[in-house]
Amino acid sequence: MSLERARHIDLHLHSTASDGRLSPQALMDLCHQRGLSCAALTDHDTIDGVEAAAQQARALGMTLVPGVELSTRWQGVGIHVVALWHGEARPPMTALLERLAHARHDRALEIATRLEKVGLENALERAREQSGGARLLGRPDFARALVAAGLVPDMARAFKRYLGSGKTGDVKVHWPTLEETLESVRLAGGVAVVAHPLRYGLTRRRLGLLLDEFTALGGEGAELISGYQNDDRGRDLASLLAKRGLYASLGSDFHYQGGALAPGTLSAAPRSQLIPIWQHPRLAPAFDGL
Ligand code: AMP
Ligand code: MN
Ligand code: MN
Ligand code: MN
Repeated sequence: MSLERARHIDLHLHSTASDGRLSPQALMDLCHQRGLSCAALTDHDTIDGVEAAAQQARALGMTLVPGVELSTRWQGVGIHVVALWHGEARPPMTALLERLAHARHDRALEIATRLEKVGLENALERAREQSGGARLLGRPDFARALVAAGLVPDMARAFKRYLGSGKTGDVKVHWPTLEETLESVRLAGGVAVVAHPLRYGLTRRRLGLLLDEFTALGGEGAELISGYQNDDRGRDLASLLAKRGLYASLGSDFHYQGGALAPGTLSAAPRSQLIPIWQHPRLAPAFDGL
């Protein structure tokens, strides 16, 4: 299956195991309704939803590729790495996930302290209330708490003023470095993919630097298309990936219904000689001969 024709594959999706709003089962139902035959569940720093999604996918005759979107830091920027693999998550991956759970917990305490300083009393309790209480907290939970407390009119403003890149609630020190993350993924037999490369606000030169380091550290792919993307930038990204021999992945980064995105909503992939991630020799068995 070529990249240009892959309209039934989505390798970046979130469920209620992280900051998505559909349960893993309901997410698979929606993927199936939308005609997808192959999906990867890539919740932030957790694989808690993977087993339930895999079961539902099997029942629907779909292929579910196990995955996770890992929080990392690189040169003071929070970079997301999607890891995909075949079969069970191996110990180097489960150890990394344990470390990330602690990091997310400690980070939430720090974010809460900082938001209290700008007027959100009992920030941790408020964020927990927004999350439903059953999982680790993310910035969207704090964003919703800021909205609920009337400190900002909407989520977009919550990120713009308090939680987005460079703002007081953007805490990255707890995340493992890109290097540590890529080592764990490699030792676990997984394949590491740069998530949404165009969404870090990096200049073209720094994006090139990121991709150089990522490749040198054993990273093997990048998302050529993430959700809706400008065609010109997509073509340029294709050439940046080709230069480094990276595999190309595709994903919507879907979180909830009612927004602009749904599973499988992707801009068309630019023409390129890039090899799709489903042809990676270590992943091909997970993709069931796509
Ligand atoms: P975290 O993983 O806790 O750092 O939270 C990051 C998540 O916040 C992203 O994966 C998005 O789901 C969400 N997010 C980031 N920026 C925005 C924004 N401007 N508006 C709404 N949600 C956002
Ligand atoms: Mn998210
Ligand atoms: Mn992300
Ligand atoms: Mn994501």
